Amino acid sequence: MYRLNSNLTTKHMYIPMSSPDLNEVDRQAVMDVLRTSELSQGDKTVAFEQAFQKLTAAKHAIAVSSGTAGLHLCVRAAGIHTGDLVITTPFSFVASSNVLLYENAIPVFVDIDKDTGNLDPALMEEAIHDLIQGGKKVQRWIPRKGAEHKRDLKALLPVDVFGQPADYEVIQAMAKAHELTIIEDSCEALGSTYKHKPAGTFGELGVFAFYPNKQITTGEGGVIITSRDDLADYIRALRNQGRSPGDTWLQHTHLGYNYRIDEMSAALGAAQMQRLDELVSNRQKVAAWYTERLSQTARVRSPFVSPETTRMSWFVYVVQLDPAIDRDALARNLEAHGVPVRPYFLPIHLQPYMVERFGYREGDYPVTEEIGRCGLALPFSGIMTELQVDYVCSVIREELKDSH
Ligand SMILES: *Cc1c(COP(=O)(O)O)cnc(C)c1O
Repeated sequence: MYRLNSNLTTKHMYIPMSSPDLNEVDRQAVMDVLRTSELSQGDKTVAFEQAFQKLTAAKHAIAVSSGTAGLHLCVRAAGIHTGDLVITTPFSFVASSNVLLYENAIPVFVDIDKDTGNLDPALMEEAIHDLIQGGKKVQRWIPRKGAEHKRDLKALLPVDVFGQPADYEVIQAMAKAHELTIIEDSCEALGSTYKHKPAGTFGELGVFAFYPNKQITTGEGGVIITSRDDLADYIRALRNQGRSPGDTWLQHTHLGYNYRIDEMSAALGAAQMQRLDELVSNRQKVAAWYTERLSQTARVRSPFVSPETTRMSWFVYVVQLDPAIDRDALARNLEAHGVPVRPYFLPIHLQPYMVERFGYREGDYPVTEEIGRCGLALPFSGIMTELQVDYVCSVIREELKDSH
């Protein structure tokens, strides 16, 4: 049992965990599609893809039905097969690892930097060296079980966590030295930049996602970017039931999927992309309100933004609590005051199906586990008002006043 803090003086409000930022132009764009009969594979998809070519200067942008579908196609396009090893992070949304499991590849988890939450570059270098040298040192990196048919290290799959790009200077140098493909999971980082270059552009393949809590939304959707013609052709075919250019509707060169986006979603996405700068600066404004107000609260640490992150597009606002704070009790009390919060992330290696398949245990990735134990996502969107941020921060302050 817990009790509401009876000292709470602030007037009660209800704050949503996240909200899409939609305007009348966005809504009209969807309605306009519904007045045509072109509901799939039409001009809106092309326009949406062009917005990504323009943003990233990538040669190809390929819109798909979700970020997860996009990552899965990247894994296929990179030629990742059964037993191939791929270095990735256990501190992410599960999709970044799941797409490897879909192809029976083996994720090699590397622990994270405690400040950014991204792959620790020094540890990643160690992992790459050990895996390439072979021998006994390999055992340190591969799972206890489920890796009996392991093959060689094939690719790196970094995640730009919470909107902050990973350390690409190191990642790109390692990839180049060892001929590894980089698949950048930029599903949380649309609009961010690393050393003034857009997130999503640091590998052969990059992926964005548009679930309603992301920087832009299409309801469900994703985009893959690449500058490699061969990968783009193959991905376009796989997206469309394996049809290569020249195939008819019932000819399928490859084993493919229906990972197409529909025209209503693409139209919404194209309209949202026209406002990307505005959407990102709204998120930056809300994040700055939080950071300013929370700077007074010693036991709550605001997110760290690395100097290399030259623009942060803020997917979520995740604070680190003092480990002495009972996070679950705090979360219940905040929710009771109309402030929903979420623990972020439950580490991927400790999800039940991962434990069962690979035999992971608590303690395997200590930084991920610690950051995951103390991380709390606060309500966040680009349309939050200053009053709402004030309310959330004052409820947090008052709740922490008499907790130990
Ligand atoms: C949102 C997200 C995805 C993709 O999600 P979908 O819901 O499939 O669009 C992938 N990776 C990360 C890290 C994400 O946050």
